[in-house]
Amino acid sequence: MNILVTGGAGFIGSAVIRHLAGRQGVRIVNLDKLTYAGNPASLGAAASSLHYRFHQADICDDAAVLDILRAEEITHVMHLAAESHVDRSIDGPAEFIQTNIVGTFKLLNAALAYWRELPGERRDAFRFHHVSTDEVFGDLPFESGVFTEDTPYDPSSPYSASKAASDHLVRAWHVTYGLPVVLSNCSNNYGPCHFPEKLIPLVILNALHECEIPVYGQGSNVRDWLYVEDHARALELVVTKGRPGESYNVGGRAERTNLQVVETICDLLDQRRPRGGARSYRDLIRFVADRPGHDRRYAIDPSKIERELGWRAQESFETGIARTIDWYLDNRSWWQPIRERSYAGERLGKVA
Ligand code: NAD
Repeated sequence: MNILVTGGAGFIGSAVIRHLAGRQGVRIVNLDKLTYAGNPASLGAAASSLHYRFHQADICDDAAVLDILRAEEITHVMHLAAESHVDRSIDGPAEFIQTNIVGTFKLLNAALAYWRELPGERRDAFRFHHVSTDEVFGDLPFESGVFTEDTPYDPSSPYSASKAASDHLVRAWHVTYGLPVVLSNCSNNYGPCHFPEKLIPLVILNALHECEIPVYGQGSNVRDWLYVEDHARALELVVTKGRPGESYNVGGRAERTNLQVVETICDLLDQRRPRGGARSYRDLIRFVADRPGHDRRYAIDPSKIERELGWRAQESFETGIARTIDWYLDNRSWWQPIRERSYAGERLGKVA
């Protein structure tokens, strides 16, 4: 397999590449523009493998993408490249329309042209895997209902609307042109190499720096959390075993309010890195004005991927969050340059 990962220097893309690195018979080609969110340091030892190649390119450049597909004889595309931060999409939606919608359209066009050139068996085996989010389903009431693959799309933010549009394009390229696509819609991820504008790393690093910990509204919004390595295992199953034209919901059955997440992190840091003076990191929590259009709740029913592809989340929220905190405590060299850059003028987001 020659797998093209778009956005492979990002949070989830780099976890996918670390997960697949060294696998017998797998070559990985990473296509990433290296926006503010892309960080080659996240790839670790995987980047020095003989079976790894990196191309700095924009998915909106369909001619460059087509050249890469041909030159690398790609058998599978895993499309993760995107603008991914909801707050940034509210402040400046244009980049989200460009990368998430136009970029996915350009990538589909390049993939279709390439797929049509392939000889019979390679044509049948080719897959285009579009990686998407549960946010496309929109706002769920508290304590009722879950998202299944049949839940109608009802996105609320410019980010989720742009992802919903890209999902529709991918399905249309399957129905209209026969491109063998698979899709997955996943809940909120957390884990190593998560850019510090997102809720969990922001809380860990603000606490360690004795900075206030901002929480939107009353912290009552509920998200369904999944450890990123569990997501990477799910993505491997979807791209290799998923049925063309199908989508798979991926989630950890781990619903938590934002306040529960923040308090859990504070309590674990109190044990691992006590503040002194019998103070708790919880004292740093500050409630701030809510995000506009903030969906109350997301919750995924992952039974289809469990039943059809045999996937199960291996980390509970408790084990995953402890591993994540330990990773940030042990990997200052990864996050310190990002934090310094943000204080030198680049915006570090509010709360994910
Ligand atoms: P991220 O922001 O950490 O990484 C995105 C990567 O894409 C970066 O490396 C960036 O440089 C690259 N990129 C951006 N624009 C590009 C372009 N025009 N051309 C090429 N590369 C470009 O995002 P993430 O959190 O790793 O998310 C990856 C994918 O998974 C996204 O499609 C996102 O919608 C989806 N997703 C994320 C979550 C989550 O909780 N983070 C959950 C479900 C689905």
